[in-house]
Amino acid sequence: MTQSEKSKTKKGLILVFTGHGKGKTTAAIGITMRAVGHGFKVCFIQFIKGSWKYGEMEAIARFPENIDFHVLGRGFTWKSDDLDKDREAARSAWEKAKEAIFSGRYQMVVLDEFTYLLSYDMIDREEVLRVLNDKPRDLHIVITGRDADPKLLELADLVTEMKAVKHPYKQGIKAQKGIEF
Ligand code: ATP
Ligand code: MG
Repeated sequence: MTQSEKSKTKKGLILVFTGHGKGKTTAAIGITMRAVGHGFKVCFIQFIKGSWKYGEMEAIARFPENIDFHVLGRGFTWKSDDLDKDREAARSAWEKAKEAIFSGRYQMVVLDEFTYLLSYDMIDREEVLRVLNDKPRDLHIVITGRDADPKLLELADLVTEMKAVKHPYKQGIKAQKGIEF
């Protein structure tokens, strides 16, 4: 099959929400809700423990038939005290993601805050690219996180970079319920 024939029959997309502005995780949640509206089954994996806010947790828990969610990994990277443990947690989280991708149970798999696993060399980049390349044809994969790897952007079908123009933090406004958590 030629590349253009392949493109026409393509159904499942790879979407990346990156950049330093706010809205990456909320975009992933928005698209999850859109998919759920069509009765899709979605697996939502949050790669950094602690960044999963209770607002979205409560909301997603209302759709147990359609959304499986997992909070995996440690609070790794910048404040780590034990890099080996972080790496181990990242690897096992990645194993879980691969299982979800190839399980056939889902129409969409969300890998929230996944880009950090690559930027901190927690898992093998070539393997990630191979898995994304070999994903089931109809499966949508959504990836979020700052500073996405250029190879990941190349492979993706959709890339949106959130640009921080203004953020209330900069004016000393504290995190707001329903906005930040
Ligand atoms: P959200 O979860 O609100 O969609 P995000 O996924 O784009 O945000 P992350 O990089 O995952 O953002 O950062 C998580 C937290 O950091 C959020 O609470 C968010 O409001 C905050 N944040 C995001 N961008 C900025 C920024 N430019 N300045 C200050 N804080 C930010
Ligand atoms: Mg986020």
